[in-house]
Amino acid sequence: MARIFIGVGSNEGDRLSLISQAIRHLGEAQGVRVLQMATITETEPVGGPPQGPYLNTVVEIDTTLAPHALLRVLQDIERRLGRMPSLQRWGPRPIDLDILLYEDQVIDEPTLQIPHPRMHERRFVLEPLAQLVPAGVHPVLQRSIAALLEQLVRDVIDA
Ligand code: ADP
Ligand code: MG
Repeated sequence: MARIFIGVGSNEGDRLSLISQAIRHLGEAQGVRVLQMATITETEPVGGPPQGPYLNTVVEIDTTLAPHALLRVLQDIERRLGRMPSLQRWGPRPIDLDILLYEDQVIDEPTLQIPHPRMHERRFVLEPLAQLVPAGVHPVLQRSIAALLEQLVRDVIDA
């Protein structure tokens, strides 16, 4: 099975509808197949300006697109669903689509970093991701998704 995971979030407008439209557009994109989706949960915003709660999930896809081409497809869907070029980092957005993992590839460029550089610090990413691939190994940290989630939860309890 392909191991490409997309983080999906929304905190503006009709969040549930935006997420389902984004996943539908993703499935209709040339060379992309949506395989499975985690549960959608409501989460508090992390970082950025004061803003409303998000709905988040993760989908697993199979694709013939290389990472940069996939990023362009995601950005095109974000634009179609009304996302404006953001003035504020981590500000509110109708839809956010991030490549979390692309098989075991590691890319570190200004416009594209894979694995997503903050995924291991974000419970709203690790929880849905762990539903789909608990045993998947983060190719940089060399730890399983389940172990990263456990560590994050322990850090919160200890803090
Ligand atoms: P975040 O997703 O961390 O909240 P933004 O969505 O505002 O931040 O960031 C958008 C920028 O992130 C895009 O211009 C894109 O070039 C860059 N980026 C780098 N790596 C990735 C990735 N793995 N997936 C999606 N966007 C990425
Ligand atoms: Mg993003």
